[in-house]
Amino acid sequence: MSSMNTAIPSGPNARRSSCGVLVAHGERKVWVGGAAPVVVQSMTNTDTADAVATAIQIKELARAGSELVRLTVDRPESAAAVPYIRDQLDKMGVDVPLVGDFHYNGHTLLTEYPDCAQALSKYRINPGNVGKGAKRDTQFAQMIEVAIKYDKPVRIGVNWGSLDQALLARIMDENAARANPWTAQAVMYEALVTSAIENAVRAEELGMGRDKIILSCKVSGVQDLIAVYRELAKRCDYALHLGLTEAGMGSKGIVASTAALSVLLQEGIGDTIRISLTPEPGGDRSKEVVVGQEILQTMGLRKFTPMVIACPGCGRTTSTVFQELADDIQTYLREQMPEWKKTYPGVEAMNVAVMGCIVNGPGESKHANIGISLPGTGESPAAPVFVDGEKVATLRGENIVQEFQTIVLDYVRKNYSKQAA
Ligand code: SF4
Repeated sequence: MSSMNTAIPSGPNARRSSCGVLVAHGERKVWVGGAAPVVVQSMTNTDTADAVATAIQIKELARAGSELVRLTVDRPESAAAVPYIRDQLDKMGVDVPLVGDFHYNGHTLLTEYPDCAQALSKYRINPGNVGKGAKRDTQFAQMIEVAIKYDKPVRIGVNWGSLDQALLARIMDENAARANPWTAQAVMYEALVTSAIENAVRAEELGMGRDKIILSCKVSGVQDLIAVYRELAKRCDYALHLGLTEAGMGSKGIVASTAALSVLLQEGIGDTIRISLTPEPGGDRSKEVVVGQEILQTMGLRKFTPMVIACPGCGRTTSTVFQELADDIQTYLREQMPEWKKTYPGVEAMNVAVMGCIVNGPGESKHANIGISLPGTGESPAAPVFVDGEKVATLRGENIVQEFQTIVLDYVRKNYSKQAA
C-alpha cells in the first residue's frame, strides 16, 4: 500500500466500503476505499493525442500531489498515445497510476488498442454513454470483459448531464404509477443512484469482483450532490468517488466543492475526491489538486503540506509585507514537499504562523511550530520569531523573508530528518 495514502486514518464517522479497490502501476499502489484514507485525484485538460503535452501536465499534477490522474481517451489517436504517455512518465520517474475516461467508443478503443488497455490502471465507464438500445448491454459488457482480462478496476461514473435516458424513462414510468408520485427532483436522484448500482451489479454478474468497482454519481448542485451521495452510501457499500461536477471557476468552484464535499466527508462518505475546477485562461491545472488536499487537510482527515496560519490583516498592518511573506512561505513549503516528503517524514504536520501585528501575532505564533509576528502600525520595525513557543530571534530589515525561510528550513532539518526520527 502506498505510504502516501495510508498514514492517517479517516474520521470516526467514516463509512467503510466493503473492500478497498487497488489502483496500481508497478510498485505504486493506491488503495481507494476500505479503511484507506481519502485519495486525491485530478484530470488533465490537454489533448491526450498530444502525448508530450499530456505527459508534462500529468507530471505537474503528480508533483502537486495527485495520487491518480485521469485522462480522456476519446478517439484512436488518444488511445494510441496512452502507452507512449505511460512510457514517458516512467522514464521521468513519475509512477502515478493513470485512469482512462471513456465515453461512446470505449468498448472499441479498449478492444482495438490493447497496449492502451494495459497501460491504464483503471477505466472510467459512464453508463449513460456506452450505447443505446440492444448495443448498450453488449458494449458495457465488452468494457468490463477487457477490465477483467487485464485485471483493472473500473469506476462506474454516472453524471446527470449524461444520464441513461432509457433508465430515466423507466423510473419516470414507475413514478407515474405511484399513488403519490415523487417530485421530479426525487426521480432524478433515484435515476442516478439506480444507474450506478444496477451497472455495478451487472459488472459483478459479468465476473468482476466487488474489489474492482468504484461508483460515482456526479451532479453540479451542492444540495443535490449531498442528497444523492447520502442515498448512494445508504444503498451500497462500494467504494465511492466524490466530486461536484462542473463546479465552476475561481472562488465559486472552490466554495461549492468545499461546501458539498465537506458535508459528505464529515459523514464518512467518499473514498476518493476530485475537484472539478474550471481553470482561468492560462491558469494552473494543479490548483484542483491543491484544493482537494486543502479540503482534506483543513478537515483533519489527511496531511499533505505544512499549513500556514496567516491573519487576514487589518488597519493595524502598515504594508503588504506580511501578505507577501505568508504567500512566499506557503509557496516555498509546497514547492519543497515533493523532496521533503521523502527526506523529512512527518513534516506535513508542521504549522507555520505569519501574523500582521502584536495583537494576535505573538500568541498565534507561540501555538505554531514556527511563527513570526510582523510589526503593525506604530510598532517598532522588528519581527519576533517563535519556535515551539519560545522566542528565538528578532528579524529586521530587507531580508526578513529569506531569514525566516532559513529558520524554517533549519527547523525542518532538525526535527524531521530520518536521523532525527
Ligand atoms: S493580528 Fe494584528 S494585523 Fe492581523 S488581523 Fe489581528 S489585529 Fe489585524
